[in-house]
Amino acid sequence: MQRETDTSRKYGTLLRAISTHGLWVECRACGHGAELRVSDLLEVAAPDAAVRDILPRLECKKCREKEIGDVVILSPDVGNKHQGGWQMNERERQPDEQ
Ligand SMILES: [Zn+2]
Repeated sequence: MQRETDTSRKYGTLLRAISTHGLWVECRACGHGAELRVSDLLEVAAPDAAVRDILPRLECKKCREKEIGDVVILSPDVGNKHQGGWQMNERERQPDEQ
């Protein structure tokens, strides 16, 4: 069964194309979800970064895991009530860095 999906489209969406939107990101490890402002992500991401490019850099503030579950692009009028659940790493963590 083919699942040609919203999901692949969503993860390929350029951040700058949704700069006024929010991203709802759920942690697969603990189920905690929180909203990120795309404008904040753009400050630390590459100008042409897509949604999927920043997901590996996110770390759940609640459980410190980096298991991204569901991601939802929120429309700009939703408001930003739930910020602070994720933090953006300033740089990629090296595999041998522990
Ligand atoms: Zn978590």
